[in-house]
Amino acid sequence: MSRLHVDLQGKTAVVTGAASGIGRAIAETLASSGAAVCVGDVNEAAARESAAQIEREGGRAIVSRVDVRDRAQVRAMIEETVRRFGRLDILVNNAGLQVIAPVWEFPEEKWDLLVGVMLTGTFLCTKYSLPHMMAGRWGRVVNISSIHGLVASPFKSAYVSAKHGIVGFTRTLALEVADHGITANAICPGWVRTPLVEGQIADQARVQRIPPDEVIEKIILAPAAIKRLLEPGEIASLVLYLCSDAAAGVTGAALAIDAGWTAR
Ligand code: NAD
Repeated sequence: MSRLHVDLQGKTAVVTGAASGIGRAIAETLASSGAAVCVGDVNEAAARESAAQIEREGGRAIVSRVDVRDRAQVRAMIEETVRRFGRLDILVNNAGLQVIAPVWEFPEEKWDLLVGVMLTGTFLCTKYSLPHMMAGRWGRVVNISSIHGLVASPFKSAYVSAKHGIVGFTRTLALEVADHGITANAICPGWVRTPLVEGQIADQARVQRIPPDEVIEKIILAPAAIKRLLEPGEIASLVLYLCSDAAAGVTGAALAIDAGWTAR
């Protein structure tokens, strides 16, 4: 895949959920474009691997073990990033997870978990990052929503609610921070090849008693125009574009990157 060229030398980014999948690709892409990156994740061991990979490739990275639902841990992550790198310019709210069940059986603690991580976590990380972006009179907040921030699927009520919430939060934020040189956008990916999706493919294959390839073809790719899974690097490239000066006029947007899923 050809890479977009954006110079982020001198900038600092925090990426949550950066130990795996899309977040890891985003952290690597921002770092290889010159940004110093804080790899924030609840999975500290995997976050260390992600940061080590960035450093092996010549980038700068620190690790923060953070549960984004926890305001003290979020504050500590942001403060540590600014202490180590002197500034904070870019925040990518990416941490997320999925639970599938009908509303009438949806475990209440799982509802709290999903809304807590994806919606409240996005609010907390943003709240504590903004003063530093305002101080620099430049900032980029990129929130990883989903096509499920735009449309619904059955059995994903907490996920769909949190992802729609992220779009609403992003729009509100864009209106509040524009005068400070800060943009806020949501990215709404379709199916991306990551551990989160590989787990769902395996679950569906078991439940439907069909091979994983058939799950991909019949369930996952059926509504899409382009019949393949997206790769994490493709989402990272859109994040990189939004972090560039070329995207200075893009704010409050909910950008679908979904292989045509929501076109119909
Ligand atoms: P993933 O499971 O590979 O990675 C998610 C990361 O988030 C993990 O490293 C996990 O440890 C971290 N995380 C979970 N809870 C956390 C918490 N409380 N605090 C901090 N970190 C936490 O998943 P992925 O597919 O890379 O998904 C990344 C984001 O992209 C999620 O928000 C997901 O909803 C969104 N997304 C994914 C797809 C897809 O098809 N994979 C599509 C649309 C949107």
